[in-house]
Order: sequence, then C-alpha cells, then structure tokens
Amino acid sequence: MLTAQSSVNQYSADGANGHTSLRNDWQVQEITDLFAMPFNDLLFRAQTVHRQHFDPNEVQVSTLLSIKTGACPEDCKYCPQSARYDTGLEVERLMKVKEVLAEAAAAKAAGASRFCMGAAWKNPRAKDMPYVLEMVREVKAMGLETCMTLGMLDNDQAQQLADAGLDYYNHNLDTSPEFYSSIITTRTYQDRLDTLTNVRDAGMKVCAGGIVGMGENLRDRVGLLQQLANMPIHPESVPINMLVKVEGTPLDQVEDLEPFDFVRTIAVARILMPQSHVRLSAGREEMNEQMQALCFMAGANSIFYGDRLLTTDNPTATKDRRLFEKLGIRPEKREDVSDEAHVGAIEHALQSAEDEQAFYNAGA
Ligand code: SF4
Repeated sequence: MLTAQSSVNQYSADGANGHTSLRNDWQVQEITDLFAMPFNDLLFRAQTVHRQHFDPNEVQVSTLLSIKTGACPEDCKYCPQSARYDTGLEVERLMKVKEVLAEAAAAKAAGASRFCMGAAWKNPRAKDMPYVLEMVREVKAMGLETCMTLGMLDNDQAQQLADAGLDYYNHNLDTSPEFYSSIITTRTYQDRLDTLTNVRDAGMKVCAGGIVGMGENLRDRVGLLQQLANMPIHPESVPINMLVKVEGTPLDQVEDLEPFDFVRTIAVARILMPQSHVRLSAGREEMNEQMQALCFMAGANSIFYGDRLLTTDNPTATKDRRLFEKLGIRPEKREDVSDEAHVGAIEHALQSAEDEQAFYNAGA
C-alpha cells in the first residue's frame, strides 16, 4: 500500500496532490452514474484510482478460523450458520484457547501474517469475553496481526478487545438500509452502524462490506456502497461477497447475479474508497480465473486463501498460487515486516496450506 488513510477529507480536491480525493459525501446519483458507465470506462477509471494508492500487482492475503460454528440465533437469510435453517451444518462450540493457539501457531509456521477469528454469535456474552480476549493476547504475542468477527459489540466490549491488542474487527453492513429488512430481522441496520462506531471509537481498524446477489437491485448496491463510503473514515477493509447459495437457507433459489454486475460493484467500491483494501471474499469458488482477474483489474486487492470460507468452499491455496503466478501478482507485504521475509512467508503459506482450514464469516 502506498498511502494510508489517517483522517477525514485530507485531500481537498481531485488532483490537489495528484491523487483521487477521499470523500465522505457521495450522492446516490453520482454512484448510480458510476455503475452506468460503459464497462471498459468504469474499469479504466477504477484501475487508475487503484494505481494512485496501491501497487496494482500486490494482493493482501489473510486466513480465517471459525472459533465457534453454527447455532447462531440471528436469521440472516444467506447464512448456513443460523440455527433457524436446516443446512446440515455441524455445530461446534467455542474452541478452547489452546486449540485456537495451536491453529494460530500452525498458520504462523505456514507463513500467515494476519490471523482472523470468527464466531457465529449475535454478540459475545460476558462469560465469553475472557476467552476471546485471551485468544487475542496470545495470538498477538505470537507476532501475528489479529482480526475478529463476533457479532455486535457494545462500547465496553470494543474497548476490551482493543486493549487486548485486536487490530481489526469485521462487521458487515450486508446490503442497503432499504433492502436490509428483507434479509435480516433480528438486528437493525442501526445496530450494525453502532457496532462499527464502537469499533472505530475504540481505536481498532474496521473491516466492513456486504453481499451482492441476494436478490437486491442496483439501487441497493448503490445504497450499500454509499453507506460504506460516507462513513467518517472509510473502512480499512471492504469485503465484497458474492452470495453463496447454500441449500436450506431462504436464499438458496435466488436468481444468479449477472457476473459483470459483481465486477462493477468491485470497481465502484474501489473508486469510492480509494485507500481501502477491497476484498474479493465469499463466492470466489464459483468464479473462474478470468472472473477473478477482472475483479483484480477492477481494484480488488485482498483475498482469503484456504479450502473453506467458514462453511462454503474457497479455492485451494494451490489454485490461488497458480492464479497469482499467471497474473504476476505478489502477496502484499506488511509495512512492519521486511519485504523479503513477508513475501517469502506468504508464498510459502500459499504453497503449503492446502490442508489448512481457513474460514470466512461472510456476514457476522
Ligand atoms: S451471518 Fe453471522 S449473525 Fe448472521 S446468522 Fe450467520 S453467523 Fe449469525
């Protein structure tokens, strides 16, 4: 990454420093107009913005472990982890701290630099907190960056996690405020925004994005990106997920999204949030290499590697590595680790992690 977002509106106007401005005042019509651009023009603009802020041939690579799987009381209609849907998912209780540390140690030995931990909860309970805080402290002590997705957080929980050393917190908005109640009824959009505010106020980095292909319309994709782009500080990480239709969930028969509309969503996210990592997340298993390459061209510069995204298939690390080689893409280096050490470690991880279970909770 060439630059880091550190404050609101630090660029006053396009071209003031030769870079695209960071803005927090995007209007619906402006975003709609971006979606309506001819495809090649849109990708050219997104790639131009991307190159102003990132090395275009670097992609950040993360891993994610499910520390508690299934039996979630929420009713997110896309999610096989909801207790309300019969998807055949095997429920697993909160992992013991030492089990998580063993996974983290294995990930570190394989070269991972960031270790993300996800739990299928509405929110962590008071009795859960000591365990997750211990996980953060211990994983952090291994020299790994830490990320968690545990559901909603109140102020105090966010501060506890930040004090324990948590670097990132993932909490997605999922879709537009207007379409939201068609997808989730057990928590409100404002609940989600409040959690993100608590995370930011506690000093952690924000990972927030959404899911497309849930039967929403263009206006909803515009609305989702407007919500994310008009936050006082853009999320450092913006996962854009393609719905993975899981049998037994209410969305298992929803109509497929036109693939170019997915690429357009990535491109518009890149233009609206020039300095954020836009993550090509769930749904990558359904994408061929050419589709993934188009997404990278549109400005996606982050992926999870491994065999699974929580409960749905994810391309194997070997396939990812081959795709990187074909495209001349390198794993992004961490700013606080020497280039050679980090890139070498990640490349090693991509080679050796075929058996690793890497998970991604698309919605929590
Ligand atoms: S997306 Fe998260 S909150 Fe929603 S049902 Fe799944 S695990 Fe629960």
